[in-house]
Amino acid sequence: MTANEYVKKRFGRFMDECTNEEIYTALLEYVKERAKEKECAQSDPKEKKKLYYISAEFLIGKLLSNNLINLGLYDQVRAELEKCGKSIAEIEEIEPEPSLGNGGLGRLAACFLDSIATLGLNGDGVGLNYHFGLFRQVFERNLQKEEPNPWMEEQSWLTKTDKTYRIHFGGFAVQSRMYDIDVVGYENRTTKLHLFDVESVDESLVQNGIDFDKTQFEKNLTLFLYPDDSDESGRLLRVYQQYFMVSNAARLILDECVAKGSNLYDLADYAVIQINDTHPTMVIPELIRLLMERGLSIDEAITVVSKTCAYTNHTILAEALEKWPMHFMQQAVPHLVPIIYELNNRVNKKYQDPSVAIINKDNCVCMAHIDIHYGISVNGVAALHTDILKDTELNNFYKLYPEKFNNKTNGITFRRWLLYCNPQLASYIEELIGPGFKKNAMELEKLTAFIHDNAVLDKLLHIKEERKIILRDYLKHTQNIEVDANSVFDIQVKRLHEYKRQQMNALYVIHKYFEIKAGKKPVRPITVFFGAKAAPAYTIAKDIIHLILCLSELINNDPQVSPYLKVVMVENYNVTLAEKLIPACDISEQISLASKEASGTSNMKFMLNGAVTLGTKDGANVEIADLVGEDHIFTFGESSQTVIARYARGDYKSRTYYEQDEDIKKAVDFIVSDQVKAVGCSENLERLYHELLNKDWFMTFPDFKDYAATKDRMLAAYEDRKVWAQMMLVNISKAGFFSADRTIAQYNDEIWKLGK
Ligand SMILES: *Cc1c(COP(=O)(O)O)cnc(C)c1O
Repeated sequence: MTANEYVKKRFGRFMDECTNEEIYTALLEYVKERAKEKECAQSDPKEKKKLYYISAEFLIGKLLSNNLINLGLYDQVRAELEKCGKSIAEIEEIEPEPSLGNGGLGRLAACFLDSIATLGLNGDGVGLNYHFGLFRQVFERNLQKEEPNPWMEEQSWLTKTDKTYRIHFGGFAVQSRMYDIDVVGYENRTTKLHLFDVESVDESLVQNGIDFDKTQFEKNLTLFLYPDDSDESGRLLRVYQQYFMVSNAARLILDECVAKGSNLYDLADYAVIQINDTHPTMVIPELIRLLMERGLSIDEAITVVSKTCAYTNHTILAEALEKWPMHFMQQAVPHLVPIIYELNNRVNKKYQDPSVAIINKDNCVCMAHIDIHYGISVNGVAALHTDILKDTELNNFYKLYPEKFNNKTNGITFRRWLLYCNPQLASYIEELIGPGFKKNAMELEKLTAFIHDNAVLDKLLHIKEERKIILRDYLKHTQNIEVDANSVFDIQVKRLHEYKRQQMNALYVIHKYFEIKAGKKPVRPITVFFGAKAAPAYTIAKDIIHLILCLSELINNDPQVSPYLKVVMVENYNVTLAEKLIPACDISEQISLASKEASGTSNMKFMLNGAVTLGTKDGANVEIADLVGEDHIFTFGESSQTVIARYARGDYKSRTYYEQDEDIKKAVDFIVSDQVKAVGCSENLERLYHELLNKDWFMTFPDFKDYAATKDRMLAAYEDRKVWAQMMLVNISKAGFFSADRTIAQYNDEIWKLGK
């Protein structure tokens, strides 16, 4: 049945007589039916073992077009719509973006689900169904404000299932229900994302902005992802949320394994659990508890569970290595407390080293330590990150379990981040090297044959221009932002965090502003784009957003400067915006302090779309540099060893750099100048100024000069259009390694061992 026939069946009218909303609803159902046809029978012996990818976040993005592409129906449906005078872009705009994630970690989980289904593996995602997701960001008076981000509608990708569980907490219990979203593999099977919700959730609890009563757990458990954790009640709520997630996951896993014939002692033959960061860690004691309820001894239960779980570490920032006070556990999940004590006792008996204990001297439970002692695998997400884990952060554990540590460099799905978001580039690549790269991304290397082909290089530049115009029109249409498509597009989009150093980019903007004022004009205008949400309680991050918005107002309205320099901060950065920004980018800003960005994945999306990286030797940037070679990337800044050594010495004084360098001093002083204060808030600007001057914990000043000089070299290089196009070509051709299909194949070969 064609989509048009389906619409006719559903509404009694063909597409040309339907509203866009009706067409969207019909296509949603059409895709769900087609996806269902591709589910595999769990009774198939190859399906005995199953992966459960548990994650607090799944930043899946809009699904309509992506699912159509993966089902092989996109071109047909687009043509059908065009025949009726409709465009698929208009229909896409109706779809709300599910806001079930925060940043890279959640986007990674979404890319992984796509690759799991595409490789035909038997694996599902498990998470929570947050009604308001992460907040929606709005700008008011150059400040970030947070609003709820409702995304569920009457008709959505969610399918209500009849699976419900009774989940017990200290003193009360709630009823859960599972909702499913189909995960459609590219020309392959359909798997599932299972999202659990509480039946008693009450959206009316959210009153003013994103505030709500944090103590009414029955009603608030699935309202928001990462509720404000600046106070104790917010942190406690996270423990409740985490337990709710993993208790449901553990019950689902046991149900499915028993249904397939597991006697529970052989659970590891039926299930492997990937724990995405420490948020799902309580699945370990919870599974042990449930197995004991079903008759296993504690020894037996620990043995079984220790063969089933694998842990992915995403960061070395101390704040992210979760440690929950024991009294939180006692209140929220008292039934897990004896198990956690037992797990801790066994560790202490075996190893006398307090640094590897599960319960630390402050009586907090170190979640990552549970994962490492009682899991089969610990992986980092880029080569450098895994080395730092082994050598420094988790060195005490590495010495105990060298065989558990392994690296899985992150990847991205090329379906969304090339085929869907940049059809112009994708179809040109297909013209040059055939369609093989869609299934085997390493075939992109064939593009290197065209490195001296002027027609190909010209076409790449032309596609980039086309994508800049598309972005310009999109920003005008959706955010009333005006940009010059002939300027250099310099883009930094990612969560706002001091370690990612948006503040260093802002200092560069100020530096350029002074140069232009002094008559040193860039040969071509530059547009510096930012997109970033700051966690609601992260004061300095919000101050950095404030500075960027103030600079934007000041510079864009300065007739002397704005013809040469513009600053754009897009509102509510999300997957949909990323899909528009990334294909249009010339300069990909990946400027985290070396050693702090575990991997990064936007760096991969940008290179795949022909942007050139301006980056520190951090995370996966190191591997990008190795692949493309030093001539095709612009790296700068201090090495991770230098940074780690300086932290160890503890002798960094930002004020010294400020006092000894005129450019740094001028740029930093400008933050609290009358001009900036005229469009901003003194309190915020002063706070940021003092933070940089007295702390600058992520060491922007030592890297600033090299950063500015390297960016200027890059802008000069941009003017040799041929050489620049060659850099673009090399970046695209070497991006194949960063396909999530490669990452997932490695997870399966080395950890999950599905279908073997
Ligand atoms: C890829 C992606 C990220 C991760 O970006 P990094 O620069 O790797 O931190 C965050 N948010 C969105 C919407 C993304 O698509």
